[in-house]
Amino acid sequence: MKIVFFDICAIPLFLMILFVCYSRRMTKGTANMLFIYIVHVSLISTIADLCLEAPLFNLPLTKFYYILCTVSAYVYFILRNATNVILLLFLLHLTKTAFLMRKKWTKIAFSLPYLCILALLVINPFNSCVFSLTMEEGYSRGPMMMVLYVVALLYAIIGFAYSIYCRRYLTTNKLISLLSIYLLGYVAVIVQFFYPEIMIELFCTALGEMLIMLSIMRPEERMDSETGILSWASYQADLKNVLLSKDNVQIVVIQMLNSKEIRNYLGDHAYNSYVTEIADAIRSIYWGRLHRTELYFERPGTLYLIISSDDIDRENIAEHVLSEIDKKLAHYTETGVSFDPAVCLIHCPKDLQKAEDIISLGHKFTSLDKRKQDIYYAADIVHSQNFAIEAHIEEIINRAIRDKNIEMYYQPIYDVQSLKFHSAEALARIRDPEYGLISPGVFIPAAESLGLIVAIGDEVLEQVYRFISENDLDSLDLSYIEVNLSVAQCMEKDLPEKILALQKKYNVDPGRINLEITETVFENISDVMVKNVNALVEMGYGFALDDYGIGYSNIQRVNNLPLDLIKIDKSILDEVSYENGKTILEYTIRMMQSVDKQLVAEGAETSDVVDMLKDMGCDYIQGFYFSKPLPVNDFLGFIEENNIH
Ligand code: C2E
Ligand code: MG
Ligand code: MG
Repeated sequence: MKIVFFDICAIPLFLMILFVCYSRRMTKGTANMLFIYIVHVSLISTIADLCLEAPLFNLPLTKFYYILCTVSAYVYFILRNATNVILLLFLLHLTKTAFLMRKKWTKIAFSLPYLCILALLVINPFNSCVFSLTMEEGYSRGPMMMVLYVVALLYAIIGFAYSIYCRRYLTTNKLISLLSIYLLGYVAVIVQFFYPEIMIELFCTALGEMLIMLSIMRPEERMDSETGILSWASYQADLKNVLLSKDNVQIVVIQMLNSKEIRNYLGDHAYNSYVTEIADAIRSIYWGRLHRTELYFERPGTLYLIISSDDIDRENIAEHVLSEIDKKLAHYTETGVSFDPAVCLIHCPKDLQKAEDIISLGHKFTSLDKRKQDIYYAADIVHSQNFAIEAHIEEIINRAIRDKNIEMYYQPIYDVQSLKFHSAEALARIRDPEYGLISPGVFIPAAESLGLIVAIGDEVLEQVYRFISENDLDSLDLSYIEVNLSVAQCMEKDLPEKILALQKKYNVDPGRINLEITETVFENISDVMVKNVNALVEMGYGFALDDYGIGYSNIQRVNNLPLDLIKIDKSILDEVSYENGKTILEYTIRMMQSVDKQLVAEGAETSDVVDMLKDMGCDYIQGFYFSKPLPVNDFLGFIEENNIH
């Protein structure tokens, strides 16, 4: 008498797993799809097993039950053995080593044992080699049943060994779960071989699949929960595995340049549907054609397509992607939402071999290759000096801090009233022995995100104090030097003490230095920052607000802070050729004057703009029209020539 309770218990477990998979939208991506196939196949095998076993309690079988048992037996044997094959395929995809199956011989070797089983099942009706089923005596095993067990064990041994072989592609948790699944499988097969009446095998399979779902198919790790597209974290993890496997892949990075605007316009919910539609449009291209392809999404608006094949025409795929999106999202264009993309094609390992480089290129290709275009090629970018600097920026910054490769340039600031240069802004550059002069636009944001900005800021302050102590500003007719402070510097507990120490060391009057901060400082406002600003104001330092007009400029905030000077950002000046731009500049100046702030306009490049600023009553002007930032000696020469002679 067979014990069918285990089979019965396995059914709700499989249903539960499927429910979780569908409700958590774990349906996209090859590994997810394979897992869902495994669960479906296991569920149908269990039902078939029950349909086979249950009628056998009452022998002899009626004709109906005989047919049901026969069909169920074949379904069971075909599907049950298929699970092992799909589980191995799943493992290949999980470890991103599916490319191993590309070779014809591997494919044949991989499927041969299963094909043997199918062959045995095909001849079974004639010689009952696997099993026999009669209406009177019911079911009994045939001599070749052994082969089925041996094949199951063979696949399990391969899977077990392969999991261990690929351990570096898997986290420890995932590896342990995979090994336990195989161990559970061994136990089940062995128990069922010796005690065929205990039908434990499918129950063990259900437990194993539950384990996979809980520890491996974690959608919160793998998926962007709002769109159901594989997440940025998955992209990083999969990319690492793809590179380790040395497979040939193409990565297509699709940046939505106007993603923030679209999200603001549509709202979060509709934006997620918009992205989902873009993803569907992209998938429709490769669906059924390029099998080993995955799509990932990084918020706010970048999609990554990893195509695991080297035989696709690279130009074609990018153009294809763009035209398909245009076609499928045409209905949005009618409502005023238009897709503004930039696509970058990266061929690995030919173009790049390191995950950090690929990730960084995906983020920066539009700024690394200034020619504005729809499709960028990594091959054109990776050999440029800009890319080399970006790729080695951490090393460059660390070297600059260690070897003091930081050089201060000074840009004069013109006083409209006195018609002389009244102050100057200190602007840092790195002079690297290998990469030459590097602009702060490149290394300051990198230093900020690497946590190295305070060390750079310390060196900048040291050099500016030294400069002031070595040069008599009065005799140059200069009032002060402006120094940029980053948010991290403003948040340093001992900033006032540091500045006091420099002030004493170089015997510099606080009035000789004006500290520039940006509005981001106020977005990150903290107690330490408020204390620092107040302490420095009390010590006699003035503050200027840099880059006014970028972001959410707030006049009330400006009015409430101890700021003497407002620096209007170049972007506002760039708009003056348009009528509205001119009005905005004019009103900004008037508004600041009405709350008694002095104004510096940054980025004046032409005499027309300079004249206009003068007419509008701007106090100071800084720009290439007068001078670019200059190295110390050139700057001193420039000031002597213009202020003194
Ligand atoms: P910023 O503080 O707004 O400095 C003004 C920037 O505008 C400088 O760029 C200057 O060269 C540029 N500029 C001035 N007039 C013109 C013009 O007429 N046309 C154009 N096209 N540009 C003009 P630079 O030196 O490349 O510095 C960029 C930014 O890097 C600075 O913007 C500042 O935010 C940051 N930075 C520079 N040095 C330091 C530093 O020592 N510490 C910190 N924390 N940031 C710094
Ligand atoms: Mg500045
Ligand atoms: Mg500025």
